Order: sequence, then structure tokens, then C-alpha cells
Amino acid sequence: MVTQRILTFAIVCSIIACAHGKLSYENYGVYRVDITTPEQLVLLQNLESLPNGYTFLDYPSNVDASVEVVIPPVEKTNAERLFLKHGIKFTLLTGDLKQVLDKERPVRRKLEDGFGWDDYHTLEEMYAWIDEMVQQYAPVLSVETIGQTYEKRDMKVIKLSYKAGNKGIFIDANIHAREWITSASITWILNELLTSEDPRVRDIAENYDWHIVPVANPDGFVYTHTTERLWRKTRNQHNLLCYGTDPNRNFNHQWNNGGTSSTPCSDTYAGTAPESEVEVSNLTIYIRSIAANVKLSLSIHSRGQYILLPFGYNNAPRAYNYQDLMQIGQRASVDMYKLYQKPYRVGTTADVLYVASGISVDWAFAVAGIPLSYTFELRDQGEFGFVLPAEQIVPNAEELLEAFVALIDEARNLDYM
Ligand SMILES: [Zn+2]
Repeated sequence: MVTQRILTFAIVCSIIACAHGKLSYENYGVYRVDITTPEQLVLLQNLESLPNGYTFLDYPSNVDASVEVVIPPVEKTNAERLFLKHGIKFTLLTGDLKQVLDKERPVRRKLEDGFGWDDYHTLEEMYAWIDEMVQQYAPVLSVETIGQTYEKRDMKVIKLSYKAGNKGIFIDANIHAREWITSASITWILNELLTSEDPRVRDIAENYDWHIVPVANPDGFVYTHTTERLWRKTRNQHNLLCYGTDPNRNFNHQWNNGGTSSTPCSDTYAGTAPESEVEVSNLTIYIRSIAANVKLSLSIHSRGQYILLPFGYNNAPRAYNYQDLMQIGQRASVDMYKLYQKPYRVGTTADVLYVASGISVDWAFAVAGIPLSYTFELRDQGEFGFVLPAEQIVPNAEELLEAFVALIDEARNLDYM
């Protein structure tokens, strides 16, 4: 048993590079796996929750769904054998994930190039850029630290306010560490809100107060840059092998009621209790402090191209304003499509994506009382997934800004803001 543990540890160490250097994902396979029976679902959930080096890109939360899973080279044969044995249909999407990753950042920005959106940035670069922008645009733009992470990094909220008396909009991005496109898009949009001369953008910039948390999971985000590109959770340590809690399963509304795991190694581990994660309590304390004035709350994720509304938990009822939420969401989807013909599907998390509980969109709506609350799942629909090539940052962000204009316009038509 002890030998086995040491062996497992050694394997996992070689797989995840254990704090030494960065995982290359060379010859890692990406599989799409179809779940058709409850037995297969349980098997995959078990596989997902073990420290075996597998990375599930989707949580296996229900039958009649497909999930993508990344499997290390040494495990590919074992995994395929296991799938065959249990009648699980699988498709190898790529045999070498490194080749996909290599397309993410073909051109690395140099420091002297300054900040821009043709490459992804580190947390440090983003925070430095925000400070520069605040110097340039104060007092309209300000930044506040809303607390510190488990590893003692600052969590920052950017506030944009052109005048007193505006209603508020709250946005969080990159609460899931690997979803780099979300903070890249939101910083591009912030820049547009400050500099665009498009009257529609000036209108939404100047007539609302914007509260933006560009990276809601700084520890995880840093870890995706230094060690493991596909890391999702926070970085608190549970035991020798298992780190991190899914911060977007840790909010205090219907906590652990579907689409979550109680196993610390799982990528959807809900934590020991609601708001057990300091990152989540930092966020909720801040949101509560502004909630009375906030009419629109947006949580920016990737991937899949969805606009999701409350609720996500097991057997949830319809929101009291479900029809309005749908109408506003659909308007955003229609306007986004006009730009680059990227379809975005609209509906509740549980209806159109999967069951998930303790999620920020449900908390913002039901507990903080923000009447319009959405999760965006940005590009794409499968080709690159979480490692969207940097050349798509700007077009993706343009679509998202179009969505913001549309959401606000339709919300005004319905007298929300
Ligand atoms: Zn996410």
C-alpha cells in the first residue's frame, strides 16, 4: 500500500511536473468520451476524482452527455482499454496536445511592445497595466484590493465611474484559472470603455458604474502560466496530492446540490463548506457592498459559446423573471452573431449546459438580489477549447462588447436599468 502510494506520487509528480518547470503536454491525448449509462457516469466520476494525471475539461455530471479528457501518454493505452471494457464510446481528438498549445501564443509580446491584445499576459503584466491606466484616467478609473488569495496575492477590482448616481454592473473573469480568454477579453473591453468613440460604447461606459474583477482566481491563474496550463481551481492544499477548490462551486447558494464533487482531487471539488475559499468570500463581501445598486452581474468563462442564466442546481425552479432573462440573453446572442457568425446558445445552466451548484450566477441572483445575472461561456465550440489562439482575443472581445451593448439596451427596454 505504501509502495503503491509512493509509486502513485512518483507518477503524478512526473505527470504534473510537481513545482519543477512547466508541463509541456507533449503526446498528451485529448479524448471525447460519450456517457450513455449511469454505470459509465460513476466510472468517469471516479476517474475524474483520482490524482492520476487525467485532466477532465468538462465534469461528467450527467448521462447522455460527452466530456473531453486529457490523458498523459503513459496512461493512453490503459484508458482506452478501460473505455472499451465498459462500452464507453471515445474519440481521440488529438494525439498531441502540445501541437494545439503551440498555436495559442505564436508570437510572444516583448516588454517594450507595451500592453496589447495580440498575446496573453501574466497576472503581473495585467496588474501593472491596470495601475498605468488608473494613473492616466483617474479619477474616472480606480482600483481597489478586495482581499488576498490563499497564497497571499492581491485580488483587485477595477472601478469605472464617469458620474455620480449611475447604476452598477459587476463583472468577474478568470475565476477558472485556465480560461485565459476571459481576462484578455475583459481588459480589451475596459480599454474600449475608456477610449472608444463609438457613441453606443460611450453611452454604456458613461451611464453605468463598472466594477470589474479581471482575474478572480489569481493563484490558479499564475499556476497556469508557470506549471500547468489546464489548471482550473484555486491552489489551497488539501493533502499530499490534492490541491484546489472549484471556486465556482463554492458560493453559498444551493451549495453541493448537483454537478459537484466532495473529493478534493476533483476539478469540481466544492470545498469543505460554502465560501470556505477566501477568494470566494472576498468576492461576495465586495458584491454585497455594492449589490443594492447593481442591476447586471456577469461571470465570464470559457468555452462553448453559451449565455447562461439562473439556475444550475438539481431540479431548480424557473427564475421569477425567466422570460425577461431569456429575452435579454437572446437579444445579446443575436447581436453577437451579426459580427462573426458565432452562435451563442441561451438558457439556464442546467437546461443548456449541465447541472452545477454553488455557482456565482445563482448566488448573485438569489442571494445578492441582482435581477439580471448571466454566465458567459466564450469561444470556441471545440477546436481549441481553453487554449484559444491569441489572434482570436480581439474578435472574441468585440463579440462580448457587442453583447454588453445589447444586454443593456434590452434591459433598458424592460425597465431594469
Ligand atoms: Zn469556467
